Amino acid sequence: MDSVWIEDEKQMKLPVPTKRGFYDALLNRPNDNMVHKNFYYPKTNNQNTFIEAIGDGVKIITNYNVDSIVKENNSWVINGEKRYDILINTTPLDLMPNLLSNIPADALSAFKKLKFNRVTNILWETDGSLNFTWGYIPDPKIGFHRISNTGSIVQPNGKFCTTEVIGNVPYEKLAQEGKKIPFLKNPIDYNVTEHAYVHFDLNYTKSKQKSISYLNSIGLISHGRFGEWEYYNMDVCIKRSIDLAKRLKDEYL
Ligand SMILES: Cc1cc2nc3c(=O)[nH]c(=O)nc-3n(C[C@H](O)[C@H](O)[C@H](O)COP(=O)(O)OP(=O)(O)OC[C@H]3O[C@@H](n4cnc5c(N)ncnc54)[C@H](O)[C@@H]3O)c2cc1C
Repeated sequence: MDSVWIEDEKQMKLPVPTKRGFYDALLNRPNDNMVHKNFYYPKTNNQNTFIEAIGDGVKIITNYNVDSIVKENNSWVINGEKRYDILINTTPLDLMPNLLSNIPADALSAFKKLKFNRVTNILWETDGSLNFTWGYIPDPKIGFHRISNTGSIVQPNGKFCTTEVIGNVPYEKLAQEGKKIPFLKNPIDYNVTEHAYVHFDLNYTKSKQKSISYLNSIGLISHGRFGEWEYYNMDVCIKRSIDLAKRLKDEYL
């Protein structure tokens, strides 16, 4: 595994424990000063409210799948029907070979080496006894690694939470795992996220750089968590989008 993800300051929020911090945590309950220690949640109880507000008044086409990208006379043609001067890609990098043709062999091999993890979530009804926002389960005998107490974030608080496990794990298996945790009552919903986390294997840095260099060389800007193949959370994506917008304005307006 590549250790680049704990060294990159753009990740910004990952806790990188020191030996001292690790030792202190064994003896005490040290105060966590990470930037996301406190956070706001929209009163609508809907995370998307914030994102949708940013897009207010902006012309955005939704429910439109991009199946092909072709460069023609310095402009980009999408699905053979829409033409643009600038193209910013947020499709996961490993899927770009499905959209672009004539990718040179060495770049194509870099795209193909990019690996990612899926994640499987179950939404549970709980008995209402959870008193944390989220927690980790470092127990190999339990088939979830994280519990998010989503019911404690919304107003009024609800008796529900989400469990998470890496990979594509069948519903039936997770429903059984839930029986090992007394406060989980009934599974309500199930979801597998295809692209959840980039995989920092030893090919990571080289393959990512080669893939993005190729897109840069044809003038295609690749952006966002899977467009840049990084472990970015929403705040970093938003900050980088603000920076990108400034750069494009300076360059083109
Ligand atoms: C399980 C999980 C938990 C997370 N938890 C948190 C958290 O607690 N806090 C946090 O800040 N962040 C969290 N994140 C990260 C957060 O979701 C991402 O950082 C953020 O959504 C990335 O934004 P983005 O715009 O780069 O990509 P996305 O939000 O993935 O947007 C990319 C868009 O491109 C569209 N697209 C892709 N290909 C095509 C195509 N061919 N045609 C048309 N449209 C296409 C997709 O439909 C999508 O709308 C989590 C992510 C996961 C997977």
